[in-house]
Order: sequence, then structure tokens, then C-alpha cells
Amino acid sequence: MIHKSTKPETNQNDIARVSAGTERVLGLSNIRMEDPPTCAYFMIGENCKGTCFFCARRSERENENIETSPNNSTSKKRGFLSRVTWKPYNIHTVLEKNAEQFENGSIRRTCFQVVRDTEAYRQTLEAVKMLKKKCDIPVCVSINGISPEQYGELYEAGVERIAFSFDAATPELYEKIKGKSWDEEWEIYLEINRRFPGRTVIHLIVGLGETEKQMVGAIETFYRHNSEVSLFAFTPIPGTPLSGRKQPSLSTYRKIQTALYMIRTGMWQCRRDVPVPINGEWKTDAGCQSSLPVSHFPFPASSMWDVPVPMKCKNELYKFENDKIIFNRDKRDFFIQNIPQTAFRTYGCPDCNRPLYNERPGQVPYNFPRELTEEERISAIELIF
Ligand code: SF4
Ligand code: SF4
Repeated sequence: MIHKSTKPETNQNDIARVSAGTERVLGLSNIRMEDPPTCAYFMIGENCKGTCFFCARRSERENENIETSPNNSTSKKRGFLSRVTWKPYNIHTVLEKNAEQFENGSIRRTCFQVVRDTEAYRQTLEAVKMLKKKCDIPVCVSINGISPEQYGELYEAGVERIAFSFDAATPELYEKIKGKSWDEEWEIYLEINRRFPGRTVIHLIVGLGETEKQMVGAIETFYRHNSEVSLFAFTPIPGTPLSGRKQPSLSTYRKIQTALYMIRTGMWQCRRDVPVPINGEWKTDAGCQSSLPVSHFPFPASSMWDVPVPMKCKNELYKFENDKIIFNRDKRDFFIQNIPQTAFRTYGCPDCNRPLYNERPGQVPYNFPRELTEEERISAIELIF
């Protein structure tokens, strides 16, 4: 049954929470938005069993013994994920509107963000089936804590990509901040990747306490496994254990975005003592001539840290010092000519732009939800030096 009401609903079994920007695009609100989302974002599930230290929806386990803000409160802002508010609506109503907006071209993708809970998984599976009956929109699901069989069911129902929210760049940070076993998640990820190659996207949060080098290592690792990587900036949320932590500097974020762009386009492939395919032949030390994305390289690492992070670029574009990336200012012209504005836009699944996910209105965005002006692109590049 299609419900016609556009008022927020409270019946838990039929609820999908809708991000503020998505509400606007679906015609459920008329807030002013400079850059509307091109993807509809829905959150499924009310009671997360997860305990991620940065998240307002974490379960009530009071184990926060790191970086707890003095003003920390245990009250949960259930309507928040990152700094976005998500209002509850009847799921039939919003999926119907989602299909309409896909048909008229305002929305080009749908993303379900699912809390860690078996019931939420079931609801999501049904929602995907319902939506795919209405229209052929590409769908992705960000979910964890389910079995490989359940991932398979989601793909079978028509999900194009599934997001693994590793969030943290290293196994140690993952276990500290997310409170669960890295190895378990990693094994499931490897299995899903084998069965559904090229259909996973990895969420990584910059600013959880990792070094720049560790973040680059994580990005390289996931590209070697043929996943896309989508970056987020850590955002402190009141009432969470990490509420007192600062956001990453824009300079670090621009460096990581630049490195990610170079990794996925092959520009980072400098000075490797491993064979790479160049003009049909396997050669070592292809230097910066290789334009192949890193996922085309022939040695899938079996664990996170099998991947050597190149310490130095043959063409002296970058080096690492004290675990920070140092881009070479003398090569500024190279970066101006070769790093396009897309490097600083929201990146992950096509048409995912997540406006205002990590920043306030008026703040320079970590991930631009739209095309940058030439001036903005140059300013972004200047920040990497
Ligand atoms: S699993 Fe997702 S919703 Fe649950 S606490 Fe972690 S980030 Fe938040
Ligand atoms: S990259 Fe964007 S659309 Fe894809 S799963 Fe992540 S949030 Fe959703």
C-alpha cells in the first residue's frame, strides 16, 4: 500500500529515516539548499548494536575511556548520523517519491545506510526489492555485521554496490574506535570481494588518529583489492566519546584526496620494484609513465599490511617524512596540470555527492558536492604543500 501522507511517521516497522537534503529533493520539505543531493540517502534501523566512538547512533555500552569530552552526555541524538539530521517517514511513501524523482532525473542513485541490527538488515532487503520493482535506479547499501549469505541476498535483490565502513585506517584503530574485531570484518570483505568483484566501496574517515601515511596505505590496499574508496572527514558529534576531538585540517584532507586521486589513476605508481603491464609487457620500475589504476596490478595482498607504501616518488612528486606526506612544491606546475577538480569532489559511488555531510553551511567543504571553480581547484592544490 502506498501511503500518501508526507508527515514524519512513528511506526517503527515501516520507518525509513531521510536525510535533510533528500527530504528536500523528494519534495518533503522546502529548506534552502545550494547544492541538492543527486543521490537519495535513507537510514534504516533505530537500534544499532554497534559501538563506534564517533557515532550518535551507537548502542548504550558505556565503554568510552578515550578522549571523552568533559561535556559529554550519554543522551543519544537518535536523529543524527554525522552532522546530518534524519527524519522518520513511512518507507513506502519515500520509496515512491524516490522512484518519481529518478524518473524525472533529479535523483540518480539511492543509498541505504543501515545500522548494525538483524531487523534493519531484513527491512533493507525488503526496501531494495520494493524500490527495484518501481524503477531501475542504481542502489547501494552501507551495512556491516551480516553474514556473507546475507550480502549475497542484497546483491541478488539488485544492489549494485555495498559499502564496507572500515572507517579507521588501521586494524588497531578499528578495534579501539569501533570496538570489534578487524580480522572478522576483513575476512568477510575478502570473501565478498572475491564473489562480487568491483562491487564494493570502502568508507574511510580521515581524522580518527591515523597518520597520513597510514591513511595512504589503507587507500592503496583497498584499491589493490579493486574496491573504490570514499573519504569522510571526522566530525565531532555532541554526546559521543569523540565529541572533544577536532576535525582534520583541510590541508591534511586535501593531501589525502590528492593521494587518493593519484593512486586510483596510476600516478602514485612511482618506483615500485614490482612488474606492471606497460604496452603489453610486464616491466619493473615503470615510474610515473604507468597510467593504470592500482587495481590492475597483479598482486592481491592477502592481508592489510602486505602492501608496501612507496616511500619516495622517482619523479620527486612526494615523499614521506615523520609519517606525513610531503608534496614537492617545486613540482607545483605538475600538480596544477594534472590534478583535476574531481579530485576534491565527493568520490565513491557515481552520483554520490553528500552535501553538508561533514561541514556547516558556508564552510569550505571537505568533499565538494558540485563542480569546483578554477579558483577553488587552485586553492585546494595550494593546500597540499
Ligand atoms: S555501526 Fe554505523 S550506526 Fe552503528 S554505531 Fe557504528 S557508525 Fe553508528
Ligand atoms: S559512496 Fe556514497 S552512495 Fe556509495 S555507499 Fe558510500 S555514501 Fe552511499
